[in-house]
Amino acid sequence: MPGRGAVRAVIFDWGGTLTPWRAVDLREQWRAFAAELHADDPAVAEELARQILAAESRAWQRSREQHRSARLEDVLAEAGVDLAHAGLPAARAAYERFWEPHTRTDPVVRPLWERLHADGVRIGVLSNTLWSREYHRALFDRDGLLGLLDGDVYSSEIAWAKPHAAAFRAAAAAVGVPPDSCVYVGDRLYEDVHGPQQAGMRAVWVPHSDLPAEQRVEVDVEPDAVVESLAELTGVLRRWGTPTTAR
Ligand SMILES: [Mg+2]
Repeated sequence: MPGRGAVRAVIFDWGGTLTPWRAVDLREQWRAFAAELHADDPAVAEELARQILAAESRAWQRSREQHRSARLEDVLAEAGVDLAHAGLPAARAAYERFWEPHTRTDPVVRPLWERLHADGVRIGVLSNTLWSREYHRALFDRDGLLGLLDGDVYSSEIAWAKPHAAAFRAAAAAVGVPPDSCVYVGDRLYEDVHGPQQAGMRAVWVPHSDLPAEQRVEVDVEPDAVVESLAELTGVLRRWGTPTTAR
């Protein structure tokens, strides 16, 4: 691409990008959680699940409209959950069991990341998430990817969420590469294309996620590239130039 330097880092979105998109019934995650806290009273459990889902929806709305981040603990507290409750670890475990099948990394990622490293490209992750760094890193470790990751930023650990430019600047700093030499890859036009472009990055869109209407923010943007599969990414990067192919 004229006027742009070689790609020295690729930073990935997580849900719907590194993990294939799944339509998840979000009420069920909190039913699993609340059933552990109130095993003796299904009606109380059901009402708590409803309250937590509402608090979570408000947190994601603040993320879309004000680009503010949130943590799982903030959502639970807003819903009135006692964070010192003795049953909380079991409830968290039930919640994580609910999510486990949806957290598996796409099998194309490991060979892709090995290829990127061979091309001299650093690898990052920037995710809008309520979950902690420790939890996300345990998932990457489970899938054999943690050792390939050069830098990772989770919105839960900073004040801002995508598409705020500060989130992208934090991710660029984490991989040690200036934004104009970074490419961002994600499945949402507002958060993952508009956001990184505003921060000076190139943006690659993976258009396969069937996002619910209420999660979509209409925006007029043109991705720098569109890939039908992450496996196509190496071809795009070689056209733009990487440290091993740049003249
Ligand atoms: Mg995503």
